[in-house]
Amino acid sequence: MHEMSLAEGIVQILENEAKKQNFSRVTEVCLAVGELAGVELESLRFSFDVITRDTLAEGCVLTIEPVSGLAYCFDCSVQVPLHKRGDPCPRCGGFSLQVVDGTQMRVKSLEVE
Ligand SMILES: [Zn+2]
Repeated sequence: MHEMSLAEGIVQILENEAKKQNFSRVTEVCLAVGELAGVELESLRFSFDVITRDTLAEGCVLTIEPVSGLAYCFDCSVQVPLHKRGDPCPRCGGFSLQVVDGTQMRVKSLEVE
């Protein structure tokens, strides 16, 4: 499952930060997840719960902040919101779109102790 490896990646980031910043527990993780990142949020939450067991982030609060998808429409020559890959341009209904934002997932902030 794709989300399992994403959750593993997050724990890896947390462990690296723990070494750098010298903390031993993570109490809250805030993730920014793009609408177009192809991440199933429920599945990510489940995976995160499983993966963080017996780690420094066990039982921590996971906050997910959605990042809107954004695309450039070559027909309209403007940037338009795009909520799903494969959707048409909301202005002209065309498909000459290039995704410009909302494809990333990253750790936005941490609460630690
Ligand atoms: Zn358009």
